[in-house]
Amino acid sequence: MANNIQAIRGMHDVLPEQTPLWQYAEQIIREVLGGYGYSEIRMPIVEKTELFKRSIGEVTDIVEKEMYTFEDRNGDSLTLRPEGTAGCLRACLEHGLLNGQVHRLWYYGPMYRHERPQKGRYRQFIQLGVETYGMSGPDIDAELIILMDRLWKRLGIRDKVRLQLNSLGTTAERLIYRGQLVTYFQAHISQLDEDSQRRLQTNPLRILDSKNPAMAELVANAPALMDYLGEDSRQHFQSITAQLDNLGIAYDINLRLVRGLDYYGKTVFEWVTDELGSQGTVCAGGRYDGLIEQLGGKASHAVGFAMGIERLLALMETAACYPLAKPVDVFMIRVGEAAEAAGLLFAEQLRDALPALKLQVNCGGGSFKSQFKKADKSGADFALILGDDEATQGIIGCKPLRSESPQQSFNLSQAIGFLGDYLKNRPH
Ligand code: ATP
Ligand code: MG
Repeated sequence: MANNIQAIRGMHDVLPEQTPLWQYAEQIIREVLGGYGYSEIRMPIVEKTELFKRSIGEVTDIVEKEMYTFEDRNGDSLTLRPEGTAGCLRACLEHGLLNGQVHRLWYYGPMYRHERPQKGRYRQFIQLGVETYGMSGPDIDAELIILMDRLWKRLGIRDKVRLQLNSLGTTAERLIYRGQLVTYFQAHISQLDEDSQRRLQTNPLRILDSKNPAMAELVANAPALMDYLGEDSRQHFQSITAQLDNLGIAYDINLRLVRGLDYYGKTVFEWVTDELGSQGTVCAGGRYDGLIEQLGGKASHAVGFAMGIERLLALMETAACYPLAKPVDVFMIRVGEAAEAAGLLFAEQLRDALPALKLQVNCGGGSFKSQFKKADKSGADFALILGDDEATQGIIGCKPLRSESPQQSFNLSQAIGFLGDYLKNRPH
């Protein structure tokens, strides 16, 4: 084994026994997003480094220490996307999608960050991103939260996540607050860790996002941005909470929630859980109107969120309440040359008639006994059995593998009828 090449640290394979859970979650995600009229967009995984520097912010964990940046053969600096918001907005601006229009979009795929790998924190991870453009009112902020609430319910983990909400106000409001915050932290400078001392100069709000427990109390006693909001920001926030109250969606107002990215303003939120240790944020987002102009577009509006799929699935595993599709419904056993030829034809005719049927045909020969073993191991509910006798008579045996019901003999149309009924009643 010593010489075998292994996967890159923090980048994981999803093996066949795990993919049914992924596919189940992905299918529900698509359905829920479709139910709110959202469309999928697909962007490249690699973008110009400049895009992330300009959008995420130079003084963020991502840009300072987490990006996979490299020079391509032309000497251009490229980066494996650490998140999707910047690329999605870049794509929409590039294709003129934002000229006074409204969009509700989503994307799904791998993101790359050079972090210290641990449970729930990887170097390649999958995110669902949802972004909306062109809507200024608090109704769209609320819609995103309502959509997520439905998603948790559909995935069977509603009782495992809590919503945290805050408002970051406007740039002008943040500027006034920033002054107050700097004064406060300067008065306690000896208690700031090295990172935070540096951030005091560059981006003091980010200190509130510190995960250093030694600073928890200092951060908890800092002035709150909420007290510095103007009338418009205050009303925007209150309208969101009123809509959530109306639908009975509970939330905590978390005054320290500032998010790790530079582009947020007004609404920010996170969905957190206690079940995944320190990697407890499953989903995070907010309003980022300012980013559009920052990337060269005409002033407009944007709200979105990103969900970490590995953390989502880990949470679903703790709930274990999902029906998983089996890879095989029916396994076809063929013994003898005539049976192999007839079985191949029969299988193709079944697939013509029942495209949803998962039919695996035994390959590589073997006795009835050894093929039955394979049928059982495949997880199939039925074995279709063809020996040379059946082949000459144009029939096939059908044996239930998960119940005591007797074996039956079918011609093609009977088999189609029987398996068609099975598909209608199959749980997945
Ligand atoms: P954290 O504080 O955990 O580092 P973040 O603020 O960097 O999170 P975002 O950029 O907001 O995370 O990404 C949204 C979501 O993507 C997170 O809530 C999390 O579920 C997931 N995520 C982020 N980084 C990773 C990672 N390295 N591995 C797995 N999932 C991740
Ligand atoms: Mg992070």
